[in-house]
Amino acid sequence: MSVKEILQLGNPKLWERSTPVEDPKSLSYLIQDLSDTLAAFREGRGYGRAIAAPQIGVQKRLVFVRMQGFCGAFINPEIISASDEKIELWDDCFSFPDLLVRVSRSLSIEVVYRDEAGSKQTIRASGDLSELLQHEIDHLDGILAVQRAVSDKAFATRSEWERMILKASKES
Ligand SMILES: [Zn+2]
Repeated sequence: MSVKEILQLGNPKLWERSTPVEDPKSLSYLIQDLSDTLAAFREGRGYGRAIAAPQIGVQKRLVFVRMQGFCGAFINPEIISASDEKIELWDDCFSFPDLLVRVSRSLSIEVVYRDEAGSKQTIRASGDLSELLQHEIDHLDGILAVQRAVSDKAFATRSEWERMILKASKES
């Protein structure tokens, strides 16, 4: 039960595929670590909604989410269907907090997973939760948002991105 170091872009462990969890009920320490690490990041930076186990160097298929309307662990999550309709958005990641990447994600998805009690669950996610889960499940496959960039110019530093958003809001 502690705040762990978050692996940063360039660390080869982030490119590795994580292995399935065999006993979902054995994960309470890991879930607590993810929850603590997420809370600390959020306190330091003012944002952050989810974290994947490989980001703290544990290569297990586990994601922890805390956002409005949902708080909990997704164990062995699997996307079983995805809408053809896509959304484009600026994505960020704890593993490269000062870089934004423009990505395309499915507007809605259906995910099966195990909860902390080991029960099988199915969730239909759309909007924020949909894009968030796609980002986190990518982590479990060793895929980072930088690999999902919609073009070779789809990158911005956080300060430049903030300037862009501010300008757009003044213009609208
Ligand atoms: Zn990430």
